[in-house]
Amino acid sequence: MDFRLTDEQELILESVDAFIEECRANGFDDTYFREHYEKNRPVTEYNKALIDSGLGILGVPEKYGGAEVDLLTMILVAERFSTQDYPHLLGLALQVDDMLTFGNEEQLKIVSEGFHLGNRTFCLGFSEPQAGSDNNMITTSAVHKDGKVIINGHKSFISNADTTPYMLCMCRESEPEDPKFWGSMYFVPMDSPGITLRQMHKLGGNLDTLYEVYLEDVELPDSALVGEKGKGFLQLMKNFEVERLVIAANALGYAQCAFNDAATYANQRIAFGQPIGRFQLIQEMITENQIRLMNMRNLVYQCAWEKDNGISIRLHSGLAKYYCAREGFKVCDDAMQIMGGIGYTDDCRISRLWRDIRMFRIGGGTDQIMIHTTSREILKQYK
Ligand SMILES: Cc1cc2nc3c(=O)[nH]c(=O)nc-3n(C[C@H](O)[C@H](O)[C@H](O)COP(=O)(O)OP(=O)(O)OC[C@H]3O[C@@H](n4cnc5c(N)ncnc54)[C@H](O)[C@@H]3O)c2cc1C
Repeated sequence: MDFRLTDEQELILESVDAFIEECRANGFDDTYFREHYEKNRPVTEYNKALIDSGLGILGVPEKYGGAEVDLLTMILVAERFSTQDYPHLLGLALQVDDMLTFGNEEQLKIVSEGFHLGNRTFCLGFSEPQAGSDNNMITTSAVHKDGKVIINGHKSFISNADTTPYMLCMCRESEPEDPKFWGSMYFVPMDSPGITLRQMHKLGGNLDTLYEVYLEDVELPDSALVGEKGKGFLQLMKNFEVERLVIAANALGYAQCAFNDAATYANQRIAFGQPIGRFQLIQEMITENQIRLMNMRNLVYQCAWEKDNGISIRLHSGLAKYYCAREGFKVCDDAMQIMGGIGYTDDCRISRLWRDIRMFRIGGGTDQIMIHTTSREILKQYK
């Protein structure tokens, strides 16, 4: 196997490093991110700078003002940003891709115009209080009347519902043509009459907000449908494959960032007259976690390469997400252990990375659901 980066990939990654250097010098530094994190506010100005630099538009077709690259390159870029503790905008490119695949012209126009501002155009409205892992329990209803659709329901855990102008909302059709296909997605303007929000407060990931969304008789034209009526879950699955891989890549980046800090610290911190890196119990964590990082990286790159080469990543993206979220957390946890007391304080970014990475074992499908879906796929191969 050839693990070398192409010249183009090397160049792009060098541009990422240069961009981050420039950011540090121009005010997008630790203080800037810390302030936004503490106030739970999006880093809109930074996102705009990222778009203007050309690095935030990677993966979006040129026709929509982007720069086309393959998924592996996008993943490499996301990893490089996360490793240096800087946010990236891979999620925006995926939003454009979703609309290119399923949206109508109007929806695609809205999303492709919105991404130039560096903001997500829509939040994902799937989870409900009684329907997280078990999305068969979704009750948010879509009733059709006189060319209109009327939506009623309650979505929960919706990231950035306060700052995104639209929500991609999974609804239960009141009269599905085929009872098996009852789920449809609608593109719901968040300023529609009948929508109210309630903020939820969380442990980490505070550059994003979290909300409950209540929809009461929200009336939209039938053209708000995204993709095919009743086929929402099939569309969701397509979205999930890449989303899971992106979560795995982010986990890899966060874990590498924490590991870099901890390994540096192990060489510097003196205890009992020598650097703690000379103690075998610390060395064990260094070696074990280096192996974890290599395994994570191999899984993520393989998966991206497979997607780029037209091979299904249905199984592998689930395995990568499960492994990287769990093992990435272990890397951050050990990094905190190596840092001792300072690792547990806000003076050190490891405490934040530890909180942030923990979410990856829940969002985008929990560990248990990853096992549930991947094991079924694996066992099928042995029938
Ligand atoms: C920070 C954050 C951001 C989020 N953002 C969004 C968003 O933008 N949009 C959105 O729609 N959702 C979002 N979510 C919701 C997220 O996708 C759900 O929390 C997740 O799918 C789990 O659902 P749940 O919380 O209802 O847990 P449950 O499904 O109730 O699970 C509870 C426990 O039971 C286990 N469990 C459930 N079923 C099984 C099974 N069959 N076998 C074994 N164990 C099982 C789970 O693994 C878990 O351990 C977000 C969540 C968080 C925390």
